[in-house]
Amino acid sequence: MKAQTIILGNVITMDEFKPYAEAIAVADEKIIYVGSRDAAMKLKDGKTRVLDYGSNSVYPGFLEAHCHPGFGGNIMFGRADLKEGKTPEDYLAILKKYVDENQDKPHIVGSGWADDLLYQLNAKQLDEICPDKPMINQSSSGHMMWINTKAMEAYDINEEAVAQWGTECIHVDENGKPNGLLAEKPAIDLVKRVQPELDQAKKELLGFQQYAFANGYTGVYDAGYQLLTKHDPRAYKELDDEGKLKMYSFCGSFVNDNTDTPEEDIERIVKEAEEFNGKHVRVLGAKVFADGVVEGHTAWMLDDYVDKPGYKGVTRFDDHDKMVRLLKAASAHNMNVHIHSIGDGATKAWIDAIAQAQSETGNFDMRNALAHLQEVTPEDVKRMGEYNVMAVCGIMWAIKHPAGFAQEVAYVGEEKSYNAYPVKSIMDGGGVVANHSDYPVSPLFSAVEAFCLGVLKKLPSQPDDYIRNIDQALSRYEALKTLTSNVAYMWHEEDRMGSISLGKLANFVVMDRDFMHDDFADIEKAVCIATIVDGDIVYEADKPAT
Ligand SMILES: [Zn+2]
Repeated sequence: MKAQTIILGNVITMDEFKPYAEAIAVADEKIIYVGSRDAAMKLKDGKTRVLDYGSNSVYPGFLEAHCHPGFGGNIMFGRADLKEGKTPEDYLAILKKYVDENQDKPHIVGSGWADDLLYQLNAKQLDEICPDKPMINQSSSGHMMWINTKAMEAYDINEEAVAQWGTECIHVDENGKPNGLLAEKPAIDLVKRVQPELDQAKKELLGFQQYAFANGYTGVYDAGYQLLTKHDPRAYKELDDEGKLKMYSFCGSFVNDNTDTPEEDIERIVKEAEEFNGKHVRVLGAKVFADGVVEGHTAWMLDDYVDKPGYKGVTRFDDHDKMVRLLKAASAHNMNVHIHSIGDGATKAWIDAIAQAQSETGNFDMRNALAHLQEVTPEDVKRMGEYNVMAVCGIMWAIKHPAGFAQEVAYVGEEKSYNAYPVKSIMDGGGVVANHSDYPVSPLFSAVEAFCLGVLKKLPSQPDDYIRNIDQALSRYEALKTLTSNVAYMWHEEDRMGSISLGKLANFVVMDRDFMHDDFADIEKAVCIATIVDGDIVYEADKPAT
């Protein structure tokens, strides 16, 4: 067979049997040869295109284990951006300008305010700049909402809601009335009330796709496609049918906390898979929330919060029998369950359920995933490997950022904070660790930074006291696995992606740095030169390849 495309460069394959090569040959969207330049050139005929990347490095396309493409596209193309602000006054100035510029919009949506400014915000501030239509502003973590009085009226955030959800979720003023700050489910549910129409959702998703390609990602996991809009699965499917979706998109479909009908929920997701699966989109299974986040006092901890004796956080999906039923129903349909699990209590409860479901079904290959994994007990670190529970980790979050770390210590104590995000221990225990950005919930969407942080536990340009726990540092090869082969395994896609190997999809990223050998100060400046999907260039940097 002749090659349609031959790619030359410093090829880092992530295939342990042949880790380095000089050339890749591609035909019919698949890799037909990996090896020497001379041998590859023998596969050339008059129609073969040769992409010579010189001394630049070619990697398997990076894979992103947990992010929110629809939401990311919406934030980039459909909302007021509060990330640049540092104070409530900054936010109000940004929002006032956005209100003035978007008079035709029926509601105003903003996002990116810092969660730790929570107690300085209220509805009255927003009423002054936006009195006549609903305004909702999502926090950086995505778990909190700051809304105006019109939004409280329109979306039934009233005393009944306080009675239903409690004051941890619907914050109140000194008179016991909602003050415009919401957390967790009632907060996140509001996003659905201001969703974009299908055409807009498709545009936003394509915008995200281009952003992913520019960062070298060729495959992503959408951790709950209903997060933003009921349209998202249809947006993927329509774009795939139109030949515009090129990013391999794996999706989780939300299941409610402690659902009374786990079996029917899985039946619904099976139907969604039948309706929406296509060449570049596949529904993998269920997405659930076990808890919230440490910084919101909503992570489900085994011990009391240090600053709140008697309080262990918010438990969301916490009914053991229903967890087991959901896991067994998913197993029966070759689906998995992807669980947001941050506190050590949430993680212990879900590993207990996974262990039971596996022993009852005999299926040890479900590849259920626990996502975020901030606090994990040493026993559960071992059980991740034992029960083949996928560890989807925010390696970029493990940094000891001065402000964030002090808050974490104040909430859960020095020892738990220091030992948080135990990625190396999980790998050493036989667990499979994948890196995630959680973009746009977390603003960093960079395989380069994820790689540096995985190995150095800080960015090369950051001071050494940003390192949290150097014992959790990965080798270069391990860190690259968290961005490639381990993610493919997590999706049951190891036969098609994750390494540059014969027969796999021709999905590559070309970077101007060699992650296996270059100095980290150089790697930090790495630029994505090109991204290739199904053998075609889908992104090219302005700068020509050398
Ligand atoms: Zn997420």
